[in-house]
Amino acid sequence: MTTTSALTDTPAQPSRQVRRAGARRAAPTRLTPEAQNRRLTQAILDTASAKAAAAAKAAALAKAQLAEAEVQAWLKDMDARLTVIFAHPEENLGQIEEQLARSVKEPLRLLAQRAAQVKANAVACRCPECRGQLTQQRWLSRTIHSRFGPLTLWRRYGFCPHCGEWHFPADYALGLGRKAPASPYVQEISALLVSKMPAEQAVLVAERLGLDLSRCGLHQEAHRQGLKAEQWRSQFVGQLDTWEQIQLVASAAAEGPPTQPFTLVIEIDAWDIRERDNWGKTKELRAAGQKLDRWHWVYMATVFRLDHRGQTAGNRAVITQRGYAATRLGLEALSAQLYREALARGLCQAQLVLVIADGALWIWNLAKDRFPDARQQLDLYHAEEHLWAIAHDLYGNGTPEAQAWVAPLLQQIRDDQTVAVIAALTELKPRLLEAQHKKVQTQIEYFEHNAQRMKYKEGLDARKACEEGKATEEQKQLAKRPVGSGAIESACRQYQCRFKRTGQFWTTAGDEALMCLETLWRNGRWQELYPHAKSSATLN
Ligand SMILES: [Zn+2]
Repeated sequence: MTTTSALTDTPAQPSRQVRRAGARRAAPTRLTPEAQNRRLTQAILDTASAKAAAAAKAAALAKAQLAEAEVQAWLKDMDARLTVIFAHPEENLGQIEEQLARSVKEPLRLLAQRAAQVKANAVACRCPECRGQLTQQRWLSRTIHSRFGPLTLWRRYGFCPHCGEWHFPADYALGLGRKAPASPYVQEISALLVSKMPAEQAVLVAERLGLDLSRCGLHQEAHRQGLKAEQWRSQFVGQLDTWEQIQLVASAAAEGPPTQPFTLVIEIDAWDIRERDNWGKTKELRAAGQKLDRWHWVYMATVFRLDHRGQTAGNRAVITQRGYAATRLGLEALSAQLYREALARGLCQAQLVLVIADGALWIWNLAKDRFPDARQQLDLYHAEEHLWAIAHDLYGNGTPEAQAWVAPLLQQIRDDQTVAVIAALTELKPRLLEAQHKKVQTQIEYFEHNAQRMKYKEGLDARKACEEGKATEEQKQLAKRPVGSGAIESACRQYQCRFKRTGQFWTTAGDEALMCLETLWRNGRWQELYPHAKSSATLN
């Protein structure tokens, strides 16, 4: 092991107040103005030469290693920690894990800092945009918050006369943005944690995992990552601007060994989120006669192949691969995201595309627009709920009379006899009071609008045949088709666990950014933003 002297391996700097207080104490009480000037000049010169020395040392670094003395200090530290643990019979493996992790952190920090420096030194000082040689080259240090603590790096930078801009080429090579205070790993973990839980909890969880994220402004970092994810998403969705591009994306989905004919299922729904638009202006706006609506729609969809849907040992339905789209930016945005996701998951290869949803008109309009050849199906349970609503209204909540009235109608729905259901409801009307009359009329219209989407018999018969062991091959396939939109409903609930907590208010920019991260994660595209995440999964 060679003795590579430390770069700027200073431990955490004392705070500014402490430094100022120190300077005040050190300053002699009375100095002539000339002496003061000389002193100041000397101090500036000293700082400059210290910086130049540090930069030169950094620039000369060609290997990332620990010095023999550093290794010895680390081993000694580890030994001391273990000795304390062995002296205390009540301390268990948890304490051993904790102490060893702490002990190794500083050597890892030093190694990471030196490795990053070596990497930075190897980067040619060229413009990352036009590849031209940068002029007026200089060195500047930058401190990055990393997995192992703060790392100070020196990077060469220069001016590109062609682009008219100053560039730090090493920053790009290291995966650091222009202003990112955090390393790619810390960026990723901030994004992951805050998209799963509120930032104040995330800081505490991270701390237990050995990461001090309070220093990188966890919430802001996650927001920055969310914006990056949105940028990535708009490029991804924007790949469909021309017909040629659509063809290209569609054929990419067909790569790999040929598969059996499959059904692609698309489920769509929405839920509402509370935002703090016009925060603090409530009184003012109300007085001006403006209606304040803080609840806004989040549109969501999920898409999966039926042959990717299976059952656990406990008979629970699981979908092994599925795509999601989720947005606060309106129907157009949802439509584009969903279409892109569907293309990537076999829209053009599917034998049948099945869109399942509740009766909302916007959903069927979207389906007609984007998936004109798809088969549309009304969620069976929503249809049943509409009948139950009438039953409860006519005969009282949960009464045997309500049950008796609704039972044959529920069966008719399952037997594809929507026409009979509509006839039965129409027959009711002359005997009803005006208020009930209106309600029943609304439900009649609901069934009339959706009659074409209410074909359940074939699938339900197939399920029965499977249970009885008499199913044909075709029925075995049919039985796998969902009759309800449970997959999207559970997805909505999962998003709401993060985005609809008690007392939570969002801004559109804030919720969209985090939702974008969450969706990227769920869609299995996390490594698009964090390439290191992929390598760690495969290298282990
Ligand atoms: Zn340039």
